[in-house]
Amino acid sequence: MIIDSHCHLDSCQGSTDEIVQRATERGVGKILTVATDLSAEYQAMLSLIDQYPSVYGACGFHPDTLPHPLPSVELMRPYYQHKKILAVGEIGLDYHGADFDKDFQHKGFALQLQLAQELDLPVIIHTRDAAEDTVKIIEHAMKAKPLRGVIHCLPSSVYIAQKAIEWGFYLSLSGVLTFKNADKLREIAKGLPLDRLLVETDSPYLAPVPHRGHPNEPAFVVDTFQCLAELKNCDTQTLETTLERNFNTLFFKEKT
Ligand SMILES: [Zn+2]
Ligand SMILES: [Zn+2]
Repeated sequence: MIIDSHCHLDSCQGSTDEIVQRATERGVGKILTVATDLSAEYQAMLSLIDQYPSVYGACGFHPDTLPHPLPSVELMRPYYQHKKILAVGEIGLDYHGADFDKDFQHKGFALQLQLAQELDLPVIIHTRDAAEDTVKIIEHAMKAKPLRGVIHCLPSSVYIAQKAIEWGFYLSLSGVLTFKNADKLREIAKGLPLDRLLVETDSPYLAPVPHRGHPNEPAFVVDTFQCLAELKNCDTQTLETTLERNFNTLFFKEKT
């Protein structure tokens, strides 16, 4: 099966039944939906994972949704009890917008890395225009305890890619891989080992070619998958099996 390793199903437009159905019809057998808070989106994620057998969940405070004041690790722990919640994330750093508080993002990120270590869950990392600080904070956390995880929506950063490989992390390629102006990302992807890769939509954002201009949905992960198969000169069956194994190794180590 093909797997959408990262999306925001609750933010997709239209009937969720039909969205999941269209994904199934294109061979997408698992969908990981991400809640970027522990309140409204978290509740939406819970009902999705309870309703659809192929849908799994992850949750954490995105750098843009960190609450003031930050909750303690003890307060966050109970949110991860559901057996279909597979990871802490997406968490990380985002220096893209105008008003961001670097120190506060660093604290929120470090705190949630610690949470993942205590729960022994993988992390889903969001990093945008913040490669060096992201690496610094992850490496600092790894000095205390090992971490496993994925860099979601891999940016065109050789530095991040190399570090992630070094740590034993996975790298998840989004629809950006198919974009006309993404030569640099395709070049990076060509050099990455197959046994560390995942694909994702990040829907409803970043629809791949040929769906640009439309809201993205999990079915479209197949277009990114096909782009990757061509890029790696890999037959689709081998790629499918490899990416499925990667996903299961990362996310189902503790929970089945
Ligand atoms: Zn993200
Ligand atoms: Zn996301």
